[in-house]
Amino acid sequence: MKFLCDEMLKRLGRWLRAAGYDTVIDGVRDRELIERAVREGRLLITRDRKLTEFRDAPGVVILLRSNTVQDCIRELTGQIGIDWTFRPFTRCLVCNTPLIEAPPELWCEVPHRSRIMVRHLYYCPQCGKVYWEGSHVRRMHGKLAAWRANSGL
Ligand SMILES: [Zn+2]
Repeated sequence: MKFLCDEMLKRLGRWLRAAGYDTVIDGVRDRELIERAVREGRLLITRDRKLTEFRDAPGVVILLRSNTVQDCIRELTGQIGIDWTFRPFTRCLVCNTPLIEAPPELWCEVPHRSRIMVRHLYYCPQCGKVYWEGSHVRRMHGKLAAWRANSGL
């Protein structure tokens, strides 16, 4: 499954990336959002009911009614069965590019006190962001695992 997230659902989109799903976040106008979703074979996630009225919408548009990220996650999981531990932290949260193993010189980006704990370092070849299993990523892993456990998959 690949996704196109309406810009209004940016935070949800970043969580989908964290879970490893190819997720574009876009703020273009209605018609173009649907066209892009169809062209790229993505499911369009939105809270905008108008988008369900387009001819191409059935099977493409997923309408959420929830307001908080937490509720959106629950609602989306209920609708299409997202596996929140699909491929955790294999995509850049900022730009959606698949991450690759970082070259040794990038270890200087990891704070000294964390280095002993970190086994793997990844980076985004597109925007240059470096990722490692620090406390922030571990907390996110914890949430993904909890959502997976509650998903009924
Ligand atoms: Zn990136």
